Amino acid sequence: MTFDIEKLEQIPIDEVIKALGGDYKRHSHGKQFNMMCCNKAFHQHGDKKPSLTVWVDKNICKCHVCGIKGNPISVAKGMLGDFKEACKWLHETFSIPYANGCTPRPVAPKIVKSTPKPIEYLRFNKTKKFTKVKIGDWIDKYSELSKVQKLKMVYTFIYRFSLSTDRSKLLEYYKGRQIDKNPHLSKIGYLSVEDITLLLNKLSIFPTEDLIEFGIINDAKHKFPLSWKSPKNVGVIPSFSIYTDLIEGMMLRPIDDTNKWFKGKESRLSIPSILKPLPFGFGYKILQNTCDIYITEGHIDALSLPENYCFIASPGVNALEEEQLGLLGGKNIKLVFDQDEAGLKNALGYFEVSFLDQRMTILKSQKDDLEGMKNILESQGVDIKVTEHTGLKDRLLKAGAKSVEVIRWDKDLGKDVNDLLVNGNLSKVFKI
Ligand SMILES: [Zn+2]
Repeated sequence: MTFDIEKLEQIPIDEVIKALGGDYKRHSHGKQFNMMCCNKAFHQHGDKKPSLTVWVDKNICKCHVCGIKGNPISVAKGMLGDFKEACKWLHETFSIPYANGCTPRPVAPKIVKSTPKPIEYLRFNKTKKFTKVKIGDWIDKYSELSKVQKLKMVYTFIYRFSLSTDRSKLLEYYKGRQIDKNPHLSKIGYLSVEDITLLLNKLSIFPTEDLIEFGIINDAKHKFPLSWKSPKNVGVIPSFSIYTDLIEGMMLRPIDDTNKWFKGKESRLSIPSILKPLPFGFGYKILQNTCDIYITEGHIDALSLPENYCFIASPGVNALEEEQLGLLGGKNIKLVFDQDEAGLKNALGYFEVSFLDQRMTILKSQKDDLEGMKNILESQGVDIKVTEHTGLKDRLLKAGAKSVEVIRWDKDLGKDVNDLLVNGNLSKVFKI
């Protein structure tokens, strides 16, 4: 039998999210609303400030934190790991009939083992020189550039403009989080509402269709056509290219309540289908260096570390692309994630266990508990399904990292690195 893909894609996306473990914040909702994400392993406190936006008309969604997105099938695939598995789950959960009525199609009793495609790790070339690029030198040749180069030009133009604005409010914001005089602050730009108006004028040197394609302005069909797509009054946290000072994407961090819709959430400005950016901190300097590399959850934690530390500010706990991990070959890595279940799960890996109507997660480090539970359930004839999720530690080692340490500390000292800083406990965990 074949699944009715069209029907599966018409299942209301919010019901799919609910069935996968997400939830509504409020019950009355319109054409666009936020839900608590179903991808619980990657959210703290059950995603109480809902991160997942639902667009009812298009029947799609997007989580701004963990990146799960798309229509019912892609969301189910994101959670269950496999297209067929996703269709089967939707088909059963929502009782959607097969495509061609009930006529069974003979299925060959053959188990096809899928061989996962080997990861093509990116590697850092130590002998390659670092180049500084002047945008002015390229403006006249813009039309001859490749799409990737065009995107870098436009993003770099925005980023460099954001460094030239009045950044006093931004610095005040960081000061409020005890981040003061950190030399890396000079790399973070700022765009106020007024700056953005000015910037949009300046951006008119680039073709409008490119600005739309690169996610900077709304398309012509939008309720607010051709206007700035992202939040305003934001810190601009750059993603640099490895071998040049060009920008491949950025995170925009609202520093006040101007943006009702974005509610203080960081917003990503990048087009991964054109170019997958590396997180802030990941680049030539730390790769050329022999320093230990600290991977944090977000740039606030990275800027809270002792200022001479090498860091990578991963925007979400699973924001690093598998092939990008290869760049860290030969490096000593320290993972400094939040001292909560989500942080530990992502760092160490975990098992997702389902039986009867239950669904739970067990940390890799508690493998014995899993074995015990499995024995009991199996002896009672209960079917138990275990899915293994590899943690970042093991994935980094597989990619060639020399060593990976998961840094843990007493939660009472602070739940994350910024907390440690604010509470005056940084030196209890890190050598300063
Ligand atoms: Zn999510």
